[in-house]
Amino acid sequence: MAKIPRLMPQNPRLFRAEVVRTERVSPSMQRVTVTGADLGEFPWLGYDHWFRLFMQLPHQSVLRLPEFTGDRWWHAYLAIPEDERPHYSNYTVAGHRPEAAEMDIDFVVHRGPTGELEGRAAIWACAARPGDGLAVLDQGVMFDPPQDASEVIVVADESGLPAVTGILRSLPRDTVGRLIQEVPTEADRRDLDAPAAMTVTWVVRDGREDREDSAAVPGDAALEELRRHSAVDTHAYAFVVGESGLTTKGRRHLHRAGLPKDRIMFSGFWKHEARRPA
Ligand SMILES: Cc1cc2nc3c(=O)[nH]c(=O)nc-3n(C[C@H](O)[C@H](O)[C@H](O)COP(=O)(O)OP(=O)(O)OC[C@H]3O[C@@H](n4cnc5c(N)ncnc54)[C@H](O)[C@@H]3O)c2cc1C
Repeated sequence: MAKIPRLMPQNPRLFRAEVVRTERVSPSMQRVTVTGADLGEFPWLGYDHWFRLFMQLPHQSVLRLPEFTGDRWWHAYLAIPEDERPHYSNYTVAGHRPEAAEMDIDFVVHRGPTGELEGRAAIWACAARPGDGLAVLDQGVMFDPPQDASEVIVVADESGLPAVTGILRSLPRDTVGRLIQEVPTEADRRDLDAPAAMTVTWVVRDGREDREDSAAVPGDAALEELRRHSAVDTHAYAFVVGESGLTTKGRRHLHRAGLPKDRIMFSGFWKHEARRPA
């Protein structure tokens, strides 16, 4: 498989932007389209290209950003008084149109135990209005299969769906592999531009709440599907992202099934709170 040209950028670039429009693309996904004077120059690589998103919270009158010097920004960020410090979260480029200097960002709309919208970024996305300010700090691509990868195994919950969409769209058309993609509801499934020899399995969480052996914790259903495959080619490459239980248990399963650890890229995109004991 051809090498992907660039992973983590040496000198990540910051792009200031503002909201153009929003759209609920499916029951659990809010798309925010943003633009910026130089956003057309964002060096989009496809795949799971991700970034840190800085946003102004409702109580803040301006978007105050730290000084960015190369890849150092954390101390400057913490030096901003808490009340004025922008919130930041990690997101994936869902789409990039350089000619229009536009980028799409897909936010999972998640709710707390009593049904209220939760998550500062998700709440921001659902309330976003044209002109709202934000900033995007380029972080590059994590998907990095070795050149001798025999097949690609991708597993994700809905927070990884933008990454999965980008990876499948970017993969060489002769790639062999499989995707296990969990989504909250049937209506959250979407068309994917996958290579012909990739098997796509959607796992819909809706309706599993009542089952005793698999609760509604995001990622459990995808993990259950992954565990149905007990043997894995030792030359495969796996990419597992989403709730941290899915990623750590998924990695363990793949390793036990024969895949060396250095052929498994896993990243806990978020952590479910009050997760029941395994
Ligand atoms: C490289 C990378 C790329 C990512 N790309 C995307 C992306 O494109 N789209 C996307 O939606 N997410 C993506 N994520 C995950 C996202 O960063 C987290 O979900 C983040 O916690 C959202 O921030 P927040 O401010 O809304 O929630 P927080 O304020 O951090 O969390 C508040 C509460 O919400 C819960 N929570 C957080 N995320 C979820 C979720 N997805 N489902 C259910 N409960 C949740 C937490 O457990 C916590 O209780 C990515 C993460 C990484 C590391």
